[in-house]
Amino acid sequence: MPLQTLMRRPARVGLAALVAVMTTVVALNLVVAAFLMANWSRAGQVLVALQDGHVAMLNQETGLRGFLITRDPQFLEPYRQGAADMAVLDAQMIEWSEGDEDLRYWVDQLHVAEQAWVEQWATPVQQVQPGIGDGESLTALLLQDKALFDRYREVEAGAREVLTARREAAIAQTRLVLATGTAVGIGVAVAVALVVRRVNRRVSDEVLPPIQQLRDQLSDLAQGDVDRAVAPTGPVELREMATDVNTLSDALRLRGEQVSAREEQLVAARDEAERAGQAKTAFLATMSHEIRTPLNAVLGLTDLLLTTELTELQRGHLETVSRSGDSLLTLINDVLDFSKIEAGELDLDEAPFDLAELVYDVGQLFAGAAGAKAIDLLVDVRAAEGRQLIGDGLRLRQVLMNLVSNAVKFTPRGHVVVRVTGEVRHDVLHAQIAVLDTGIGIPDEHRHRLFRSFSQVDGSTTRVYGGTGLGLAISQRIVQAMGGEITVDSEVAVGSTFTIHVGLQLGTAEDEVPPAVSLAGYRVLAVDDNRTNLDILEHQLTRAGATVVLADSPAQALYLLGATGAGHGFDVCVLDQHMPGTSGDELARRMRDTPATAGLPLVLLSSSTTVPVGTAGLFDARLHKPVHPDRLLRTLWSLVRPGPVREPATSTGPVATGHEGASLHVLIAEDHEVNAQLMQLYLRQLGHTSERVADGRAAVDAVRAGRYDVVLMDAQMPVLGGADATAEIRALPGHRPVVIAVTASVLASDRAAFLAAGADDFLTKPVRLAVLDGALGKQFPGAVAAAAVQPAPVTVPADVLDREVVEELHDLGEEGFQQVYTRFADNLDAWVAGLVAAASGDAAAADAEDSAPRLAHRLKGSSASLGAAGLAALCQRIEHVDELSGAERDELLQAFRIEAGQVAVAVRALLAGTPVSA
Ligand code: ADP
Repeated sequence: MPLQTLMRRPARVGLAALVAVMTTVVALNLVVAAFLMANWSRAGQVLVALQDGHVAMLNQETGLRGFLITRDPQFLEPYRQGAADMAVLDAQMIEWSEGDEDLRYWVDQLHVAEQAWVEQWATPVQQVQPGIGDGESLTALLLQDKALFDRYREVEAGAREVLTARREAAIAQTRLVLATGTAVGIGVAVAVALVVRRVNRRVSDEVLPPIQQLRDQLSDLAQGDVDRAVAPTGPVELREMATDVNTLSDALRLRGEQVSAREEQLVAARDEAERAGQAKTAFLATMSHEIRTPLNAVLGLTDLLLTTELTELQRGHLETVSRSGDSLLTLINDVLDFSKIEAGELDLDEAPFDLAELVYDVGQLFAGAAGAKAIDLLVDVRAAEGRQLIGDGLRLRQVLMNLVSNAVKFTPRGHVVVRVTGEVRHDVLHAQIAVLDTGIGIPDEHRHRLFRSFSQVDGSTTRVYGGTGLGLAISQRIVQAMGGEITVDSEVAVGSTFTIHVGLQLGTAEDEVPPAVSLAGYRVLAVDDNRTNLDILEHQLTRAGATVVLADSPAQALYLLGATGAGHGFDVCVLDQHMPGTSGDELARRMRDTPATAGLPLVLLSSSTTVPVGTAGLFDARLHKPVHPDRLLRTLWSLVRPGPVREPATSTGPVATGHEGASLHVLIAEDHEVNAQLMQLYLRQLGHTSERVADGRAAVDAVRAGRYDVVLMDAQMPVLGGADATAEIRALPGHRPVVIAVTASVLASDRAAFLAAGADDFLTKPVRLAVLDGALGKQFPGAVAAAAVQPAPVTVPADVLDREVVEELHDLGEEGFQQVYTRFADNLDAWVAGLVAAASGDAAAADAEDSAPRLAHRLKGSSASLGAAGLAALCQRIEHVDELSGAERDELLQAFRIEAGQVAVAVRALLAGTPVSA
């Protein structure tokens, strides 16, 4: 209740007191008045009685006089009545005068006068009357009556006078008492009211202002103004309260000062930590670069050395170097990644990617490792086929790679399946990407340790399997950052299933891309002992419209084929290699030996990449697990439909290069000599041609000058950095080469800079052969199909001659074809020798006929028109040989010689009618 309301209470109490006083006074007045009134009313009563007595006396007198005159006894009646009344009145008056001496006196006087009249006149008159005619006696009697009656009148008048005076005095007295009482009452009431009002005022004056002050002070405190103090005033309690409030504000001021001091410290500490974080990030970037760059050289050159002829001992040592290098690289990557994530620097990209492709890519990457352990690595995509999703594909790939790598690592036999399922809700694919294995499994009691950093299920596994125990910790963090999670389901000695649950936004709505080719109307027999693989084949083939019959053993396959005899009705058969009892080879051999199935196209699906001796020619095609559905379908299509395969025009590459199935021309922008050399060797190994520039400016100039399919752009280069060079290249008019950024940096910001500049892809050093091949294949699907992916010693690269050009020349007719190529082959050696001599000699005049540029230009033309695009490209470079440094020139000429040699071999093979194929 507000104080003011509370304060009204005493006022109300005062009022109540006032009313009480007034009421009392009025009551007292009334009592007093009643008492006094009795006085004056008694006087009034007596006066009335006197009046009545007088009338009664008159009645008696009149009656007796009438009787005297008339002697008629009826006149005695009023007399008697009057006497009776008189008696009553006398009795009453005597009663009233009890205790009232004065009144008694008058009553007695009256009584005496009455009695005198009665005794001396009335009674004798009734007893003896004079005769009627005795006028004299009558007159005497009447006179006697008059005298007596007058006496009575006198006494009565005296009494009346006294009583009247008495009554008036009583009335005056009553008036006075009432007036005085009322005046006193009012006076007391006014006095009480004044006192109450004064008390109330004083309380308000003394209590309310200090309370208001306190209130203001408290509200100031609440608003953070702690500098004001309040002066203690008012009653003791309020003064004490004010002192308390002042103490409180002092305490708050002190606390505030402490808080701001601490805040300053914290800000300083935060700034320090930020600086330290930046230093750490910079350190990470440098570390990453510094460690990866030499490691790049070590690993790359080891890879290349391994492809050369080596003694067993050398090979063994080198393989150890390679393995150790690999684990060192994994370790560095993991540690860098983990510290980046721990430092909160996990930046996720938001870009479209193809989940199915990503999963097949990862499968492909581990196919070799799985094949080496003779386990099947299968990919089963049941969702998101042909749909673009938005997210960080690279990070998702990293997680999946880790899971698949673990699965392959911890699975000694059986299979590993990567399965994508999920459903679309509100434009989001809620995907489950599961990696199932039939490996050693994880004991229940160790499962909680899985996602901890540097923790492995069993210390001893480190020795058996190696690893850092970081992979799952990193993966979990990445998936959590994507808003998903990884779950584990496992049973010891049965296997484990790691599932990534993640919601991925669907890209702009496009119609689902149908399978690459349609196999509608064709019947395919699929033979595999692995039920999962049969399921996958069934799914992929039925999707393409084929009718699929599954056989889960060679025996069943033979039964199915035999049961129907020659009319088995199958167009093609897909076989697994490793099956219990009968292997794929054996089954194929039996089928080839049976007339009904001898001509049935056979496709081997195997996990290993080696071709056992004596099996060449058994199969029409060999595919490795996991097989990409497009590749499977195209292969089957090429077998069931005679004639060259015309692939549907796909728009996967940004430029139509005319290189489909042929080599790419790549510009390597790299300042590091060894890395550049390595990249060139890689590209050559993959059947591509390459050129190298040492800085970004030169790269832009080179792109402006030459026609490259791809630019491999290093990030950190002198003169002009990679990202800037990329942006400049993107700004050039005309032909747009694919730009693939290659950097040793792990920072997302570097990647972002490249993507912003317009790079198409991003590779992290050290770049391995397969990764480079994969990246090129992604941009140019035709090129990768033709390139030699396995690092086997390549004597004749498949596509030094452009197939399309060769086919076109074929159309000239056999004779013309033979002529042009024979002339070319006969002269090539001489041209090459001349050109090399001219180019390595001291610069002759550039316009001389036999100058290197002229010779090169010429050879370029003929090479290009005969489909030797690589050679042509090299010639084109030799045209500008004067601009090259000595080393570059030597390198170029070396490459030119090798290329020319390969072209010569290819042309001779072509002329001999043995088409060179991969
Ligand atoms: P590491 O680099 O050691 O593989 P991870 O974090 O990837 O580190 O894995 C941690 C541990 O989890 C492994 O050392 C292994 O003991 C266990 N583990 C992971 N995946 C599997 C699997 N598929 N089967 C059995 N054990 C696994």
